[in-house]
Amino acid sequence: MALRPLDIVLLGAPGSGKGTQSARIAPAFCLTHISTGEILRAAVAAGSALGVAARESMKTGELAPDGIVIRIIRERLSEPDTAAGFMLDGFPRTLDQAVALDEMLAEADRQLTLVLLIDVPDRELVQRLADRRTCSDCKRGYNLVFEPPKVPSVCDACGGELYQRDDDDEAIVRHRLEVYVRQTAPLSGYYRAKGILATVYGGGRNPDQVYGDIKQVLTAARRQGASQPA
Ligand code: AMP
Repeated sequence: MALRPLDIVLLGAPGSGKGTQSARIAPAFCLTHISTGEILRAAVAAGSALGVAARESMKTGELAPDGIVIRIIRERLSEPDTAAGFMLDGFPRTLDQAVALDEMLAEADRQLTLVLLIDVPDRELVQRLADRRTCSDCKRGYNLVFEPPKVPSVCDACGGELYQRDDDDEAIVRHRLEVYVRQTAPLSGYYRAKGILATVYGGGRNPDQVYGDIKQVLTAARRQGASQPA
């Protein structure tokens, strides 16, 4: 019997650790990691039409238009490296995006296996984003308190220079959290009603502890999938 692919969504507020956990989950479970935020940041840096269309919303902490991100995901999910399983990080962020995702997966005769919500209290999110740094080359994330680089401002993995994202400025962070509460948090109810939501608590815990819980949830989901026809 063929293994059902593990097709998952990582849900959580900005700063909840989606990027950090993705870097652990994707290689361990052989999933293709798709981050709309990373795709959009690369488009902005390249000055492409997509980047120009998304730049203003990103700068102010608003969401990019649904049509743009839905098109990105539709194209990305049609690529062969997603066939054996994918992990969406930062998509969907609105109900319309969630419905569009269901529709495009149904067209491909697939459906989400699981939606993993990383739950972190608001006060901790603001602090984490202030302490967050990212490698300008390999995009690895650091936290200056929990996971500092060995040499200040230098990426342990590739030697690239670490920077603070423009939208991690405190005023923009507060706005991004409001946008999350208003537009993205309701998705947990949408997926709970479908019976595919799993919540992992991430507050006051280091990334390894959170990953330990995630690993258990995903291992159980994969086992369950193995007992069903693909
Ligand atoms: P992230 O790296 O996931 O925090 O995303 C950074 C920014 O990219 C967000 O604040 C939005 O402006 C934009 N963005 C990323 N994903 C989406 C999405 N699914 N829908 C709309 N905007 C998005």
